[in-house]
Amino acid sequence: MTFSTTKRFIAGVTCPKCAALDKVQGFSVDGVDFRACIACDYTDELRVNSPPREIQTRVNVPEQDPAQRVDPIKLIDPQK
Ligand SMILES: [Zn+2]
Repeated sequence: MTFSTTKRFIAGVTCPKCAALDKVQGFSVDGVDFRACIACDYTDELRVNSPPREIQTRVNVPEQDPAQRVDPIKLIDPQK
């Protein structure tokens, strides 16, 4: 889940610091989710939903450099 850059209250969430209900806002800064309590100075970065690192597959492996590629050579006999 990624929050909007606009701060929005998260319903039913209590502040981990002061335990105030419905005082925690969720918002996103540069794609990173934060939660902040308006009743105290509590702010926390949410890392739980951070996107997983891309797993290297056959699809995203960079193609071999053509200069490094070995092509079979046909030998032609000039006497024929
Ligand atoms: Zn609080």
